[in-house]
Amino acid sequence: MILEIWWSSLAAADRDLLGMLDAGERARVESLERSADRGRSLISAAMLRVAVGSYLGIAPAEVVVDRTCAECGGPHGAPRIVSHGTPAPSVSVSHSGLLAVVALVPRGPVGVDVQRLGDLADPADGHGWATREAMFKAGTPERGDVVVHELRPPLPGYVAVAVAPAELEGAPRITHWPRPIPA
Ligand SMILES: [Zn+2]
Repeated sequence: MILEIWWSSLAAADRDLLGMLDAGERARVESLERSADRGRSLISAAMLRVAVGSYLGIAPAEVVVDRTCAECGGPHGAPRIVSHGTPAPSVSVSHSGLLAVVALVPRGPVGVDVQRLGDLADPADGHGWATREAMFKAGTPERGDVVVHELRPPLPGYVAVAVAPAELEGAPRITHWPRPIPA
């Protein structure tokens, strides 16, 4: 059991990735007005599929992602992986500025948050903000049940935190998708 962290940047946004997405994800990407928003939505949805597909040993396009909102039933909720047979991993996705991040654990609560410090009202509280967001996404578990992992974003000027089950062993495994971001 390990926490997997996948990083990507807007530089990876490419129309070819649309072929990996399901109809709802494509509609969401194409409904966004600003190209940066479309790019963030595209790489987040595609990287989630690549990460889960790699974990389950299936093609990214075969991954089934349920985004039903718990509040209203709309298609914009936190992603949940639907898997038949193999137990589905828990996932969390965040994007900000030029970066997108996916966190994956085999089971249990997980939350991840990345923030571009320049976008925050109080950049000095960036770590606290990201921690609160990640805890909220993990379902606000008891502190003893989870560990807060401070992540190192691949670009300067960002802060990122992941919350994952305390029972996981060792440091997170980091993947840069589709390749490391040039410094
Ligand atoms: Zn809703």
